[in-house]
Amino acid sequence: FNVPIPINEPVKSYAPGSKERQELLAAYNSLREQQLDIPMYIGGEEVRTGKTVNIAPPHDHKRVIGQFHEGKAAHVQQAIDAALAAREKWAAMPWESRAAIFLKAADLLAGPFRARMNAATMLGQSKNAFQAEIDAACELIDFFRFNVKYMTEIYKMQPESLPGMWNRLEHRPLEGFIFALTPFNFTSIAANLPAAPAMMGNVVVWKPANTQIYSAHVIMDLFRAAGVPDGVINLVYVDGPTAGEVIFKHRDFSGIHFTGSTGVFNNIWKTIGENVGNYRNYPRIVGETGGKDFIVAHKSADAKEVAVAITRGAFEYQGQKCSAASRAYIPSNIWEDVKAHVIEDLGSLKMGDPQDFGNFVNAVIDEKSFDKLAKYLDAAKKDKGVEIIAGGNYDKSKGYFIEPTVIVAQDPKYVTMCEELFGPVLTLYVYDADQFEETLELVDTTSPYALTGAIFSNDRYAVETATKKLTHAAGNFYINDKPTGAVVGQQPFGGSRASGTNDKAGSMLNLLRWTTARTIKETF
Ligand code: GLU
Repeated sequence: FNVPIPINEPVKSYAPGSKERQELLAAYNSLREQQLDIPMYIGGEEVRTGKTVNIAPPHDHKRVIGQFHEGKAAHVQQAIDAALAAREKWAAMPWESRAAIFLKAADLLAGPFRARMNAATMLGQSKNAFQAEIDAACELIDFFRFNVKYMTEIYKMQPESLPGMWNRLEHRPLEGFIFALTPFNFTSIAANLPAAPAMMGNVVVWKPANTQIYSAHVIMDLFRAAGVPDGVINLVYVDGPTAGEVIFKHRDFSGIHFTGSTGVFNNIWKTIGENVGNYRNYPRIVGETGGKDFIVAHKSADAKEVAVAITRGAFEYQGQKCSAASRAYIPSNIWEDVKAHVIEDLGSLKMGDPQDFGNFVNAVIDEKSFDKLAKYLDAAKKDKGVEIIAGGNYDKSKGYFIEPTVIVAQDPKYVTMCEELFGPVLTLYVYDADQFEETLELVDTTSPYALTGAIFSNDRYAVETATKKLTHAAGNFYINDKPTGAVVGQQPFGGSRASGTNDKAGSMLNLLRWTTARTIKETF
């Protein structure tokens, strides 16, 4: 069980004039001028259907940067067949060989793949260089390296034996195939959802979000370059219902690794429930879904710190992190200070294309998301009980740009205080500074979600009260820090309630879901 001790991949700064910045820009500019023709990958073969869909950067939606080949139900069936055909050999592969493949993937990504992976994420998902670097490079490298360590910890887990016998646990891959259904907002998550089960010896059918196919293609190149054998991870581009129809009816469906919306996850549970008698095994259902993540400040909090947490926690990557703060509760005694800092900070943020390194804010992912957000902003502009103190404007002429917006609501149950918007909009409620405990009750009961949350306080009693009162309100709870930016190996990530099954990504708890143990007792 000797594996390299993982260390979190250092974040590169891309300082002006640095070699790494030049390389990143060169990769970005070169990709932008190409028309990538993106096939599916089934059983190690590139599959082109001829039915192509154009891909455009969200910040420059008239520019076509490539197209992907869309598949049909038959391709999903082929992907399942290819996975099952690869299963026996892959499952029998010694764990060291599986580990070595993913350690190599980490090294390739830390080196020759880094610029291309980041550039594809910047271009295809409209992330600035820093947001791409902490996701597509560092977090993904960390997922590979830390999961290898956690994998060995699982294999080490063994029962006791008495004289005359030897008891063992054989940690087997699941029987059948895993379905990885992945989101647009993190390249690292899109890669980890198929990689984590594969590392544990499973075979996978992977369907990314259409809005992430551009970088999914680079991830697949990375898997292949690292030596993931043909058929172990199969990448298909089909619409969700078509994929679901084939996958969830299949006798060998043995688990889903999902990140996406609560609505889609609810439907998946229902469909699996309807088919449950047809499966060889009870499938593992692992999902991270929505959030309505909070920042709550106590009257002892530092106003500047709270404002920084709001700016970074709510608006980095345009608020499109499941972990992004989208509601805040600020006590009346520090409100004027917090407000002044927030207005000043947001006023200094630049919005535009990601290749301009000065832009903190880029575009939201697509027109559907833009239109939905614009509708909420229009309604807020008309509603009497709310005031927009920053942002509020939007423009989709060139890209899907929405200004970072702060809405102050008189009603703590105002619609944008409760519903997930998944964009750069934070709603804030100013509470009577002496009503801290009542406010914690509001935080706990206003939304069905429980992904992330943060408490800001310089009073230890208040910290204790909040930590206890909000026991189930967030799977990742931050004390005096913003609620985003969980680091693999440091803050295992996931939430419960309507936010998912809380099988902490990047931890042993997640990997345990991709193995099924056989107990062996041998007597002498
Ligand atoms: N792990 C990310 C964070 O802590 C969020 C992941 C997500 O958006 O799904 O910010």
